[in-house]
Amino acid sequence: MTHHIVVVGGGTGGTVLVNDLAERLAPEIDAGDVRVTLVNDSPDHVYKPVWLYVPFGKREPSDGRRELSSLVDDRVTLRIDRVTGIDTDARELQYSGETDRTSYDHLVLATGSTLAPGEIPGLADGGHDYYSEEGSVALRDELLSFTEGHIVLSVIGTPHMCPAAPLEFVFMADDWFRKRGLRDDVEITYTYPIQRVHGNPHIAEWAEPRMRERDIGIETFCNVEEVDTASNQLRTMEGSAVAYDLLVAIPPHRGVDIVSDAGLGDRGWVDVDQHTLEATEADDVYALGDTADTGVPNAGSVAHYQAGVVAQRLASEVRGQVPTATYDGKTLCFLETGMDSASYVEFDYDSPPSPATPSQKLHWSKLAYNESYWLTARGLL
Ligand SMILES: Cc1cc2nc3c(=O)[nH]c(=O)nc-3n(C[C@H](O)[C@H](O)[C@H](O)COP(=O)(O)OP(=O)(O)OC[C@H]3O[C@@H](n4cnc5c(N)ncnc54)[C@H](O)[C@@H]3O)c2cc1C
Repeated sequence: MTHHIVVVGGGTGGTVLVNDLAERLAPEIDAGDVRVTLVNDSPDHVYKPVWLYVPFGKREPSDGRRELSSLVDDRVTLRIDRVTGIDTDARELQYSGETDRTSYDHLVLATGSTLAPGEIPGLADGGHDYYSEEGSVALRDELLSFTEGHIVLSVIGTPHMCPAAPLEFVFMADDWFRKRGLRDDVEITYTYPIQRVHGNPHIAEWAEPRMRERDIGIETFCNVEEVDTASNQLRTMEGSAVAYDLLVAIPPHRGVDIVSDAGLGDRGWVDVDQHTLEATEADDVYALGDTADTGVPNAGSVAHYQAGVVAQRLASEVRGQVPTATYDGKTLCFLETGMDSASYVEFDYDSPPSPATPSQKLHWSKLAYNESYWLTARGLL
């Protein structure tokens, strides 16, 4: 019997996974006992962390795009198509062509996050973001001409990709305006939905005094319900209003509809066992990266570590062995604290984060990681 492993989503997690499988299962693939297919809805692979630097004129969106085919091992069949349905009983994927189907023996969902600004009235018209390629370019245009006024960075939806990125943005903006002699004329406020500035209490405790030191205003318990574009104000569930001249928002995030439609989890996130990454609602289905509802941050590093675990488990399964590899919640994150300094955190399910003292060396380490990412995606690092 040939085992057909199908991976949906050629972003960070899916690409690292198929390259790992291609190497790990090379003898079985070459013998025709295993087939690996990667389905992605775009010919390009996108490295999203680049978007943080675009508004400050430090990177171009094209720095975060490469042809997926140039990153994927030749042993993997690449299909550029959008999966429109998953039938976990028949073990089939559907595409827009009605009769077109792909059968699988093992399915891995690595479909990432999508942005849902439409869920907050006024947000699509009134807010800017750097969580999409177009958003980061439009925000760059705004920032370049912004010399005075109030910038509000509002975290509207959680969970969202890269929980550190909103903190990074306000630290970078503070430094960027200071270096240009404009900081006295630019007020910066950060809003967060819960009672602290970050979901993780250890990171919140570390960040808050640094924000106050740098005169970054903080509004917690700020659950934005509406962006009033007539008066340039955020209106919150708590009854407060926050006025802005430039709104930079982290919009609500969702997974993808095919997940909910297949009964694999709510809002497009797949319910999984947080250690094995197996879907709880169907057999022979794994999920990894943003789409796997594990409670850990939606981060590329997480997708990368999880890909290694899923690859080991699938290799065991096709070899008739009991899979033993498990994910321990490992998360690694560099956190920019200005235009040329950064901190770093590493944590897992059992060990909380303890952010490192910010330094220029860590900032350069983050930039070096961003450069070497393309080797990581290929499975070489
Ligand atoms: C501004 C910003 C900064 C960030 N900085 C960092 C950072 O410093 N460090 C870090 O670790 N993480 C960072 N992240 C988060 C990181 O980019 C994501 O967590 C990571 O990309 C998740 O990987 P993934 O494989 O789960 O999903 P993705 O990389 O998003 O890939 C999902 C893929 O699935 C495809 N897809 C979706 N639906 C379908 C379908 N129906 N059919 C076919 N294909 C489909 C998509 O097109 C996409 O190619 C950042 C994110 C942003 C937005």
